[in-house]
Amino acid sequence: MVHFVGAGPGAPDLITLRGAELLKTADVVIYAGSLVNPELLQSCKEGCEIHNSAEMTLPEVLAVMERAEAAGKTTVRLHTGDPALYGAIREQIDALREKHIEFDVTPGVSSLFGAAAALGAEFTLPGVSQSLIVTRLAGRTGVPAGEALHDMARHGASMALFLSSGMLEKVQEELLTGGYDADTPAALVYKATWPDEKVMRCTVGTLAEAGAAEGIRKTALVLVGGFLDAPYEKSRLYDPSFTTEFRKGNA
Ligand code: SAH
Repeated sequence: MVHFVGAGPGAPDLITLRGAELLKTADVVIYAGSLVNPELLQSCKEGCEIHNSAEMTLPEVLAVMERAEAAGKTTVRLHTGDPALYGAIREQIDALREKHIEFDVTPGVSSLFGAAAALGAEFTLPGVSQSLIVTRLAGRTGVPAGEALHDMARHGASMALFLSSGMLEKVQEELLTGGYDADTPAALVYKATWPDEKVMRCTVGTLAEAGAAEGIRKTALVLVGGFLDAPYEKSRLYDPSFTTEFRKGNA
């Protein structure tokens, strides 16, 4: 059996209880390189075979899984954050299905939520934005037509950009082309929830400058939108005058 497990954004105690238990009992662990906190691997049992997938190809990863399966062993494939975001799990899952190898997936706390926590921010502020766009700038890996950053930016919604902090000038240019004002609040969060986490608040117009000042090139998220700073409406759910299924309002 192969267990895909979300390791969380970095802090070792942000893996789920289920993920931690699977990690403790695994015979083989394949972890996603430097984005997974090595402290997590200290909980692996003695004799556990540990591989760093950053140095491996997909066929090599699959070969390790297949070998483990043939020996009746349990494998944990440890992905950073939540495996369903930029985790390249689908190609592994399809290969396992083809080989009739059983698998399951344990979700994790995405770095996008680690970053929001570092900022004390809420992506979905009433009156500001009720949508979060999770995307990336096209780089060596392209994005489908219609998903260019300037197209996504047209919505003016809250945005979280993965895999883009090495190209901040282009990010800034695309966001401005898409229609965000230069003074729209933005933030760069480097290594959210790790001990060396850095939070930089800036604006869309100063994004590249802010990144350059701190030497940010990777392991960072770019967050953009009024949710970081704009005036907002309070939630109706907790409004004293608002009646809900569970509480009678006073108005
Ligand atoms: N599945 C992961 C994302 C993997 S893609 C998740 O859910 O978080 C790798 C990208 O994620 C990095 O380039 C960076 O943009 C972002 N990332 C991963 N961990 C991060 C962290 N702790 N802080 C900030 N960004 C992080």
